[in-house]
Amino acid sequence: MTSSSSFFTMIKRRRNFDLLLLLAVFVWGVMTWSLFCWVHNGRRGSLPRIRRNYVADYMLKDEYRIAPGREARAKQRGNVENIAVNARGISLDNTGVRVKKRGKEDPHNASVVLRGDWPPNPIPNEPDFDVLRRLFSIANAGDKGEKFSIDKDKLPPEELKKYRDAYRKNAMNEYVSNIIGVRRKLKDTRVTGCAERYSSAGLPQTSIIICFVNEAWSTLLRLVHSIHDNTPPHLVKEVILVDDGSSWDFLGKPLDAYMTRFPKVQIVRARRGLGLMVARTLGYNYTTAPVITFLDSHCECFPGWLEPLLTPLATNPKVVTTPCIDVINKDDFSISNGQEVMVGVVEFPSLQFGWRSQPPREKKRRKNNLEHVRSPTMAGGLFSITREYFDYLGGFDPGMKIWGGENIEMSFKIWMCGGRIETPICSRVGHVFHSHNSYMGIRQGSYIASAANNARLAEVWMDDYKKYYQGCCDMTGRKFYSPGDVSERRKLRERLACKPFSWYIENVMPEVALPGDGLYSGELRNEAFHNMCLDMMTTKEWNQPAMYGCHGQGKAQLFDLTDLGEIVANNRCLTRAHGGVYIQKCNWATKEHVWEYKDKLIKGHSNCLTVNSTLHVVMEKCSGKTSQKWTWNYHRPRRKTVLRIEEM
Ligand code: UDP
Ligand code: MN
Repeated sequence: MTSSSSFFTMIKRRRNFDLLLLLAVFVWGVMTWSLFCWVHNGRRGSLPRIRRNYVADYMLKDEYRIAPGREARAKQRGNVENIAVNARGISLDNTGVRVKKRGKEDPHNASVVLRGDWPPNPIPNEPDFDVLRRLFSIANAGDKGEKFSIDKDKLPPEELKKYRDAYRKNAMNEYVSNIIGVRRKLKDTRVTGCAERYSSAGLPQTSIIICFVNEAWSTLLRLVHSIHDNTPPHLVKEVILVDDGSSWDFLGKPLDAYMTRFPKVQIVRARRGLGLMVARTLGYNYTTAPVITFLDSHCECFPGWLEPLLTPLATNPKVVTTPCIDVINKDDFSISNGQEVMVGVVEFPSLQFGWRSQPPREKKRRKNNLEHVRSPTMAGGLFSITREYFDYLGGFDPGMKIWGGENIEMSFKIWMCGGRIETPICSRVGHVFHSHNSYMGIRQGSYIASAANNARLAEVWMDDYKKYYQGCCDMTGRKFYSPGDVSERRKLRERLACKPFSWYIENVMPEVALPGDGLYSGELRNEAFHNMCLDMMTTKEWNQPAMYGCHGQGKAQLFDLTDLGEIVANNRCLTRAHGGVYIQKCNWATKEHVWEYKDKLIKGHSNCLTVNSTLHVVMEKCSGKTSQKWTWNYHRPRRKTVLRIEEM
């Protein structure tokens, strides 16, 4: 009996021991998991993950309410005393909670200025507003998209240092952007008729994807606020912010914290820098709406920007829309809306994207001012596309790296595979054009990447026309930039049975000069000067071309007379101005770019292109003297520009 009873006690104890062991393992597991989560949450650039923040439903109005827990925590720490009055006179505590108001309250005119230690003061180089207020009038800075500048020489040394640091890091005036704040009201700059033309009823929803890498706090947040302020909520399914491996700390936790006020905003973080094509694809994987809208991280959306982008897509899934891109000045943040809507083209031989005025045939096609403008290419950062067409086209080329070329690849295949690109003139989005890409420092090899991306698109989409890409090959045919493995992209093109590139050139972009393909082309020699050729010398605007020893290398000495009467070399046009002849970007709206070649004379208006004694070209009365007589190497029968408008 004794032995059996001690046996049972042993089992009982054993069971207790097992239970204890189980408990210990469980506690250990929970602790390890918590530690893992804590580390990963705190560390940026961990797993690509999505954060869904449902803290305060800003769509249900209370704009600045924040999680009750956070408010309490802030109060506990005594930070609520740390009140900031924003530039518009609305008082907020450091969590962004509105605590009192002064004067008439207008939530659209408010911008949140976060201070204090929670969230940690997120803006490096944040201006000292007390100092600024004493020196300048900063109330309503940048309102209505108007310019705001300060005399930096009046700044005390520590503020001046911030001003300079901020500029250097961001390739734009971040200090001024910070004064303007994370929110400003924009005026409605649409032409008359826009507000009535579009309605948000019955439109498909969109997911908005914004990739960023080391973006300034105020520009990124102003974009998100502008989307919130100027978009009917029911049109936006979600806003996906893709952090493409930023290295700046404030884009980590402080950004997460700030975005908690926007329930539709989700932040996806890439484990490392992926490059914008792959980063956008990562963001795309999290979208659920039938339309995808891409934006750069330094945009501002104007009232009514989205409805015109979505409207054509509701009836034609192969239309891709791009807004009119207004320039946000990188120094004073004024937003100027260009009067005429431009079109995008591709420049030869660089394959770079370029803006042009609407070609004459497009002006003719558009019956009224509100009609959408068709564009051969798009700038790339800002566009709406149906999920259906994006998938059909195989999205972005995953073999493209960092930056550049993806917009041209997308544009070619949109047109060649049966769709088209349109700019509804009523959709306006501002974009900061930087002095350089500020992330280039952390993205090694950016310039080579963009040339190699172009090599990829030339290999896959341009057929024989790829020879017009200067980055294609050297004189011996050796490739400059390896396109890498393009077999998958070629298969994609075959599968979709897209039209040949010649179709695109002849129908979509017949106005752009292909080097060496003009009506007349080759070297331009003058009868009065033997062994000398006209030379663009440079691509700098307002420089003067001159006669130079013929070198037979093309480029600056390869002139084309285009179907539209331009004389182009190196993608620049000969332009008459102030009695002289200069180099300018080509512009189809300018008569000064149009020439006539007849009886060896090159005429512009009633004067003739003449070589003067300094070997420069000038305009003189036509007399038929030898210094006015020009010959080209080649004459080509007129290339037929087919305008099958009804098909497009
Ligand atoms: N971008 C990115 N990863 C990169 C390079 C760029 O996410 O490796 C983002 C960048 O932050 C910006 C967008 O892609 O929001 C387009 O880049 P950028 O504005 O420099 O192009 P640009 O306007 O100069 O053509
Ligand atoms: Mn940009």
